Amino acid sequence: KNYKNTIIIGAGPIGIACALACKKNNIDYVVLEKGALTNSIFNYPLNMNFFSTSEKLELNEIPFISKNPKPDRNEALEYYRRVATSNKLNINLFETVATIKKNKETFTVTTDKNTYNSSHVIIATGFYDIPELLNVPGENLPNVAHYYKEAHPYIMQKVAVVGASNSAVDAALEIYRKGGDVTMIIRGKNIGERVKYWVRPDIINRIEEGSIKAFFSSEILNIELHKITIKTPQGNKTIENDAVVALTGYRPNFEFLKASGINISEEKNIPEYNPETMESNVKGLYLAGVICGGNETHKWFIENSRVHAKMIINDLKKSKI
Ligand code: FAD
Repeated sequence: KNYKNTIIIGAGPIGIACALACKKNNIDYVVLEKGALTNSIFNYPLNMNFFSTSEKLELNEIPFISKNPKPDRNEALEYYRRVATSNKLNINLFETVATIKKNKETFTVTTDKNTYNSSHVIIATGFYDIPELLNVPGENLPNVAHYYKEAHPYIMQKVAVVGASNSAVDAALEIYRKGGDVTMIIRGKNIGERVKYWVRPDIINRIEEGSIKAFFSSEILNIELHKITIKTPQGNKTIENDAVVALTGYRPNFEFLKASGINISEEKNIPEYNPETMESNVKGLYLAGVICGGNETHKWFIENSRVHAKMIINDLKKSKI
């Protein structure tokens, strides 16, 4: 009863692209998603703008109409929701995949609700569920966050923003503009090179004029409820502080990949797959979307990984089972 030709894990943009490709090719499939539809985008900052223009986020050439060239979070939620509902995609939400077991010819996929069998499995689980931790004392205090939603809780507060990539820079600027007193703690010597080219001058100017304070070549050492200690090139400094927003990146669930039999490279944790078919070293088990980059989470994004869906379906169509 619970047999499907193909099980797709994750209903992010790329899992949805795989479902559309299955549907188009009359392949019996189900998508298993542990959260809401496009759960990563749902958890993005409320005022986040994509760096991609809307046509680069489109799936299957279904038009994505947005007010501005670069859509915002709500427009993306609306788009992917409409793609999923109007195409009547077969998606089970709030169902977490625990294990993928390879049998002789088939797979057994176990979730918190059910057990399925399939001939093929596509892992499209992204990287937004596991934050890179600071690993310092006090990180588990209630005033420390690894996801940023909006500025409001931080207004009239002293806020340390850790990191210097897009997420950290966007949060620092927004909190500053809503009235938070922001200090950035940055491990490198500069603001990240990949920060959106239209945002980079803004943050650099705010730091130069002193509106946002910044410690470069520095690391947070210890967090307490009302102060933090920072290791700086001039020695350790303890400053008054109310909240920490640590935006130091996220990483794929490598343990889940390894437990499914996928080889992970020692350097950069890149999962093994054939770049022409996206099939991993486990026959019949495919990788799709941003998960393919390992630690290099900037390498793949929607624009350049939506093609994985077509590559995978073309390959699994060749299989007899
Ligand atoms: P995801 O969208 O992360 O989807 C993975 C899904 O798998 C999630 O819904 C998750 O809940 C689910 N899942 C995970 N584990 C399990 C499990 N065990 N069982 C069941 N379900 C599971 N890319 C662009 O192209 N343009 C942009 O402008 C852009 N902006 C970005 C801004 C931010 C703040 C971030 C963090 C990323 C941005 N990206 C952008 C890159 C981003 O990774 C992609 O936007 C996109 O979400 C990746 O698609 P995906 O389908 O591969 O993975």
